[in-house]
Amino acid sequence: MEVLNEIRFTMPALSVNESAARAVVSSFLIQADPTVEELSDIRTAVSEAVTNAVVHGYRRSRGNIELTVKLLPGREVYIRIKDRGCGIEDVDKAMQPLFTTAPEEERSGLGFSVMESFMDRLSVKSAVGKGTTVVMRRRLGGDEG
Ligand code: ATP
Ligand code: MG
Repeated sequence: MEVLNEIRFTMPALSVNESAARAVVSSFLIQADPTVEELSDIRTAVSEAVTNAVVHGYRRSRGNIELTVKLLPGREVYIRIKDRGCGIEDVDKAMQPLFTTAPEEERSGLGFSVMESFMDRLSVKSAVGKGTTVVMRRRLGGDEG
């Protein structure tokens, strides 16, 4: 994978860091000159993934979330959100719209659906007791690539 530019940072899984993650992703992507809508879609998808790591992954433990953003040739944005939390037992099931393990917290089970619809590609790898890695890609429009 040819990478034109990349940032990687680690933050403790605190809900205040959800907005920090969005801000970092936005500032990094400015160089690719995204539209307002593209940036908003990507920010929303990042938010959903980081929130999941905070509220589900680290529900019973503490730890870090690692965020990687890459700019690939062809104006493709690659984003990886990795936690070392509790993991997901059945990823296919978890990704179904409206599936949630936290209905009592008024979660609607739509986070993965939002990531899927706002990004071009979504891949979720998870192992119980080891953690979860979400990789998303979105190709920006325009004629530069
Ligand atoms: P919403 O995102 O609408 O607030 P939700 O978080 O429950 O609700 P999804 O984001 O689609 O919905 O996630 C579905 C389920 O997958 C969660 O309820 C949780 O059980 C599991 N899950 C998602 N991300 C993680 C993660 N990083 N670690 C552990 N479990 C996760
Ligand atoms: Mg969610």
